[in-house]
Amino acid sequence: MEYADSVVDLIGGTPLVRLRTVTEGLAPLVLAKVEYFNPGGSVKDRIAVRMVDAAEASGALQPGGTIVEPTSGNTGVGLAIVAQQRGYSCVFVCPDKVSQDKVNTLRAYGAEVVVCPTAVAPEDPRSYYSVSDRLVRERPGAWKPDQYANPENPASHYHSTGPELWEQTAGRITHFVTGVGTGGTISGTGRYLKEASGGRVRVVGVDPEGSVYSGGDGRPYLVEGVGEDFWPEAYDKGVADEIVAVSDRDSFVMTRRLAREEGLLVGGSCGMAVAGALRVAERLGPDDVVVVLLPDGGRGYLSKIFNDEWMADYGFLSRPGGATVGDVLARKEGSLP
Ligand code: PMP
Repeated sequence: MEYADSVVDLIGGTPLVRLRTVTEGLAPLVLAKVEYFNPGGSVKDRIAVRMVDAAEASGALQPGGTIVEPTSGNTGVGLAIVAQQRGYSCVFVCPDKVSQDKVNTLRAYGAEVVVCPTAVAPEDPRSYYSVSDRLVRERPGAWKPDQYANPENPASHYHSTGPELWEQTAGRITHFVTGVGTGGTISGTGRYLKEASGGRVRVVGVDPEGSVYSGGDGRPYLVEGVGEDFWPEAYDKGVADEIVAVSDRDSFVMTRRLAREEGLLVGGSCGMAVAGALRVAERLGPDDVVVVLLPDGGRGYLSKIFNDEWMADYGFLSRPGGATVGDVLARKEGSLP
């Protein structure tokens, strides 16, 4: 018989698949690391289990304790799965702009979700930051993983994603391309691959236009899970050889192509990463092996990226009169008709 003892044991060990169509005309082998094969559907399962393991080992998380984290997305799902399997409670604090589907997903795993108003200052007691800090103080046995500053976030990739890629490519990987959010993936995986290859592997970060990693000023963008308006501690500034900025339009157009042409229904940050990887691949030769990491699946984006109306509203599908992101945001805020 072959089985895992718990769903937590199924985290990691995700497959690589060659991109066959979107790479047409390019010389290198381009491989995608498909992280939606993780049990929670994203790369974030990896950091969840390692952050919890470390907190158990240090005593920061005691039996029956409560995990409190301000997250609405993939990290929440990973933490919820690990918590449920090990008998912890989970409270996630989300801003009210988060979709009901995301809140429902976290509740489906048995987590508690507290929704906070977006339209208040960070120091307001109702803000998402204030509420999560208060919950950590008030709940007995509360522990906050803090993925932006927790060294176990990059460490999880140093110990899992990096070695997997080195082994799966038999050490032939020449370029590692990945989106940057907290910076955990690029910092941990990139450092491992640099060490394993004696510095030969080039590490390329991909960032939404407007975000800090590619020199932006925090201007808004729509792709989710990547880009920041501050420099998180989880991000190691010494690892990336290069940062490529990709627009929302290019990210979403490529996300749709991955579903239609490669059979990979993935999220918007995956389209962004692939768009960046193809730009890198354009200048490489047949001996190069480019690996691009795809963080999550596309089911959570059906009403946005995969919805023609939504795409057209933002001008991402060619339709006359399509607005810019700024126009649509301004219209929502009432400052434009
Ligand atoms: N894409 C998605 C959808 C994510 O949820 C995340 C995690 N924030 C990333 C990309 C970026 O990964 P990291 O935080 O490791 O930089």
